[in-house]
Amino acid sequence: MTHIAQLKRLGLFDAKVPRYTSYPSAPHFNDRVDEHVFSSWISSLPTGTGISLYVHIPFCRRLCWFCACRTQGIQNDNPITGYISRIEAELAHVVKYLPQGTTLTHLHWGGGTPTILSPDHITRLATSIQTSVPFAPNYTFSVEIDPNELDAPRVNALVRAGMNRASIGVQDFDPEIQSAIGRPQGFGDTKIAIDLLREHGISSINADIVYGLPKQNKRRLTDTVQKLVSLTPERIALYGYAHVPWMARRQNLIDADTLPSPTDRLELFNTAQNLLNWDGYTSVGIDHFALPDDSMSEAVTTRTLRRNFQGYTVDPAVALIGLGASAISQFPQGYAQNASATSKYSAAIDTNSFAIARGHEFSPDDKMRAAIIESLMCNFDVRIDEMVSSHAVTRHDLYQMFARVNQKFEYILDVSESGLSIPHAARPLTRMIAREFDAYQLSTMGHSSAI
Ligand code: SF4
Repeated sequence: MTHIAQLKRLGLFDAKVPRYTSYPSAPHFNDRVDEHVFSSWISSLPTGTGISLYVHIPFCRRLCWFCACRTQGIQNDNPITGYISRIEAELAHVVKYLPQGTTLTHLHWGGGTPTILSPDHITRLATSIQTSVPFAPNYTFSVEIDPNELDAPRVNALVRAGMNRASIGVQDFDPEIQSAIGRPQGFGDTKIAIDLLREHGISSINADIVYGLPKQNKRRLTDTVQKLVSLTPERIALYGYAHVPWMARRQNLIDADTLPSPTDRLELFNTAQNLLNWDGYTSVGIDHFALPDDSMSEAVTTRTLRRNFQGYTVDPAVALIGLGASAISQFPQGYAQNASATSKYSAAIDTNSFAIARGHEFSPDDKMRAAIIESLMCNFDVRIDEMVSSHAVTRHDLYQMFARVNQKFEYILDVSESGLSIPHAARPLTRMIAREFDAYQLSTMGHSSAI
């Protein structure tokens, strides 16, 4: 039997599974986590700890058809000023509960389009953050960049504010694909943005590309990857396009008949992966790549790679606090998410309160399963020694669990007394294997293709 036929029989091309940027995944959040729970979790952080901060900017100048991010199109800057005031108020409220000596190890601005902010807005927001929670030594400050919304004054303002990493959305360089997904962005625009960032001293650049887009084929994706590696970003994320028009209505503008089939998606992924590996990029987790001297490649070797709502990270902070509409916070005790609609978020902040709408408090079983799933997604294995030393689970129970999952996957996994490991040929199944350790019922609507 061919490799493709075996993956097909195991259900890879039909499965819809979570991306496991959290466990449990967001559809299982509930309203028992409120502002009181959230503030108690902030207060219980250790004194002098380093935290991670995520700031969500939910505005874009244009709405790309393929994008399922929660964002709104705006034509002028009026909503931005009010929104920044709310972020400042929310942060001031967080600081009331933060223990003494808290520092910022990782700051990330995402969206939406953070570079929609004017230089003055960038300076104002960054100053508010740093006067509230100072950067730790060796901090990381990363910003999601839209090359269509970038100019030298903005880069200047970001660099002055401490930005030292940038993440650029590329998707695909092919003009026909760009027009099919409603996102025109010439290769020249991306190159100008990367050159500008490098001229301003940004030495760590990530680029996002997407496989599974309408009209995409191996030739077109090869061209995109080759163009991208000519710009030598330090990291590349290769995401699978999730066509979920029932959740992201603007995807209805995309002609579903032009989407690659599930088997074509696997071929597209493999094509891009092979090209990137041949070009010297190390595979990181299921869909990231990094140059060998990048900290993400080092994290693969040292088993310190982690996965959170922003995807793969090397950030070691014990807590991630999300600011802004729909932002999610993660603590050792659980998750807390702000109201998704900007209007509801703003209304809650205006009452001098937090805007927590839902979340999830971990049980010991959740923590154990979350650790298994994170290890599978980051390391493609689970070590029994690591699990029994940190969780209330026995070797016997783990071995039983692993043997059951191996049986389900027709014994293609490596299971021994030291743990479970996913062989290279079975890695496309990683999210499906992780799903076997998920104790929650899968939502039928909200998940994307396993490949
Ligand atoms: S891809 Fe970026 S610019 Fe386009 S709608 Fe999504 S967040 Fe906005």
